[in-house]
Amino acid sequence: MDWLRPRRTPRDEPLDQARARMVREQIASRGLTDPELLRAFGAVPRHVFVESDYAYADEALPLPAGQTISQPYIVALMTDAARPVAGWRGARALEIGTGSGYQAAILAELGASVVSVERHAELSSHAAQRLADAGYDGVRLVVGDGTLGWAAGAPYDAVIVTAAGPSVPQPLLEQLAPDGGKLVMPVGARWHQELTVVERRGSDLVSTVREPVVFVPLIGEYGFGE
Ligand code: SAH
Repeated sequence: MDWLRPRRTPRDEPLDQARARMVREQIASRGLTDPELLRAFGAVPRHVFVESDYAYADEALPLPAGQTISQPYIVALMTDAARPVAGWRGARALEIGTGSGYQAAILAELGASVVSVERHAELSSHAAQRLADAGYDGVRLVVGDGTLGWAAGAPYDAVIVTAAGPSVPQPLLEQLAPDGGKLVMPVGARWHQELTVVERRGSDLVSTVREPVVFVPLIGEYGFGE
């Protein structure tokens, strides 16, 4: 009777139960089993970042300024793919596309030192408020064109780009730590991309193409045009 199960979170389910169920049914059951990852997704209050009755549902949700936050599983998949070899604690992480601040909170919860760049100033200040409300005040938010990265905080052990571009921006590759830094980004056309993971080993870049995905466009000098 699986088809009778509601696809969305029932309105009367307590939020912590909904979150625990999200971790079990959407993340762990789909093969992401790193205990640290599961702990972080169980700890970050997604409903603080996403104003919706469906914060814990298995779907992407709208953000202001026509933007979208990915479904929890995709955030988990990208986070897992970017995991530094030595683990998250104390790692330097760069996120491009702050949006709601949820992905940044996950990285902070994992123990990384986080910089997140957003081109929309209103989204960034909204995210700053949400991050403070949830207790993640260590996250550094920058307003600007994230396709240029943020050189002041480089090198990064992990770079997560949460908007889709035609190719990986060169500045982001240059800001990756040479000893195993990993970048995760949806790469492709405007309406269809592949999640791509690039690992830097010295001057070598090893690219792996993974799941097909659909993200909002990365707009900037090394992204799509306006
Ligand atoms: N990671 C976010 C969701 C991001 S949606 C979260 O957890 O909620 C993608 C975001 O990328 C949007 O907010 C969009 O404004 C932003 N964006 C697009 N192009 C950008 C660029 N060049 N630099 C920084 N942010 C960009």
